[in-house]
Amino acid sequence: MKALVAVKRVVDYNVKVRVKSDHTGVELTNVKMAINPFCEIAVEEAVRLKEAGIVTEIIAVTVGPQAAQEQLRSALAVGADRAILVQTEDEAQPLAIAKILKAIVDEEQPQVILLGKQAIDGDNNQTGQMLAALGGYSQGTFASKLTFVDGKAQVMREIDGGLQTLSLTLPVVVTTDLRLNEPRYTSLPNIMKAKKKPLDIKSPADYGVSTTPTIKTIKVEPPRERQAGVIVKTVEDLVSKLKNEAKVI
Ligand code: AMP
Repeated sequence: MKALVAVKRVVDYNVKVRVKSDHTGVELTNVKMAINPFCEIAVEEAVRLKEAGIVTEIIAVTVGPQAAQEQLRSALAVGADRAILVQTEDEAQPLAIAKILKAIVDEEQPQVILLGKQAIDGDNNQTGQMLAALGGYSQGTFASKLTFVDGKAQVMREIDGGLQTLSLTLPVVVTTDLRLNEPRYTSLPNIMKAKKKPLDIKSPADYGVSTTPTIKTIKVEPPRERQAGVIVKTVEDLVSKLKNEAKVI
């Protein structure tokens, strides 16, 4: 079966993001970009399914600017077979992305569709769920284990009360949580090989979808600076400060 993996280009998680001076968003100029960490886990899982002989082909997809080809090449280097960039300079939002992914699923007919549980830039946690709803597919969100038994996907999820295991019919949308796997590092030969793998460039219009934003960001503000802490010498000092200064006891 085919696997489709959705990857997003985001600010690298090691970068300390700075809010733009006009508060319209965060600074992206000259900032290191990378694959969203949860999408890296999705790619790794698809590659492991291929290595296990369950998946035969992996298609990586991103909706984003021309530069997002870099993230697709990274996915190809890890083991995806081909890639599709749906190119737009608009800031694509979850519903439009889900509609584009749905059109690609209709075309490619993958049985397993892997996404990250959330993109670390917008923290939306919406795209996978919207895609499953649009297509009427089963969904296993926040997956910490994925197996295939008797033609069904078994997804283990970490929920408040413990672990929940779902048995889901295919095609299935799976969104990845941190504990699903630990992504591998890519080797130089694989990075070189990835340059030759097919990468199609499409536009949202090819799928009949408009990426004109429907959500407007009103203001972005940095979190309040934390005040420096103090080191107390004795428990009595601590209790006195909590009582008289912080007034929390
Ligand atoms: P979000 O709903 O924005 O938190 O994103 C959840 C997941 O949806 C991401 O981890 C990706 O797998 C997928 N996704 C979000 N935005 C894009 C995009 N622009 N291109 C491809 N996949 C995306």
